[in-house]
Amino acid sequence: MRRKIVAANWKMNGSGGFAKSLISELKVQLSVLDKDVEVVIIPPSLYVAEIRRLISDASFTVGIQNTAQWDQGAYTGEVSAKMAADVGCEYVLVGHSERRQLFGESDQVVADKVQQVLKSGLVALLCIGETLSERQAGQAEDVVSRQLQAALQSLDSNSWNKVMVAYEPVWAIGTGKTATAKDAQAMHLHMRNVLGSMGAPASDVSLLYGGSVKPDNARELFEQPDIDGGLIGGASLIADDFVNICRAV
Ligand code: PEP
Repeated sequence: MRRKIVAANWKMNGSGGFAKSLISELKVQLSVLDKDVEVVIIPPSLYVAEIRRLISDASFTVGIQNTAQWDQGAYTGEVSAKMAADVGCEYVLVGHSERRQLFGESDQVVADKVQQVLKSGLVALLCIGETLSERQAGQAEDVVSRQLQAALQSLDSNSWNKVMVAYEPVWAIGTGKTATAKDAQAMHLHMRNVLGSMGAPASDVSLLYGGSVKPDNARELFEQPDIDGGLIGGASLIADDFVNICRAV
């Protein structure tokens, strides 16, 4: 069912000490957050178990930034979705643009990862979005349609409640540039239409925006009718900024 979510993607940042102090700050400041808003912490995978322990008395949930496209086996350095479920993760980021660009993840790999995540009973938080040159060439909607279709085309009809999608224009990630609320809303509506054409219960799927969300632009983005929350990178590492973004939802 569609929910309001703010997810913190810490990327490859932090340490045990950093995690402890950030989580304790968030627990204090977000204790009175609207109960309808879910806060998901997505730390580097080595810290998942520790974060789970730290949030045991809070209402936050935990995710992981990446899992393998395979079930198990001789894949040195990889972590499976089943293992992520085993240590208490509820969400898996799939297809983040940094994985697509820096680690060469193709649409097919992303689709295989989605399948593994769903098989393990976790929620796939699928990331999609166009590059600057694709936007300038007028291809943004086509790219987003292709990425959605490629990743989700073999979903069975019972799995849609385990899928969320984050629209993250690549040119906005970590750059300080944000899509205007109007452009972001238009793309989210387009995504809902594409999902509907694929047989999804489109109005029930949570769609997040990501890309340089900050306290001063969060409210306008989150007020848009088809934006259900945010995937937050840099600002999720600063307690006050993340708290204010959560409060803006
Ligand atoms: C992200 O990494 O998913 C992201 C949105 O990063 P930032 O908020 O730093 O642009």
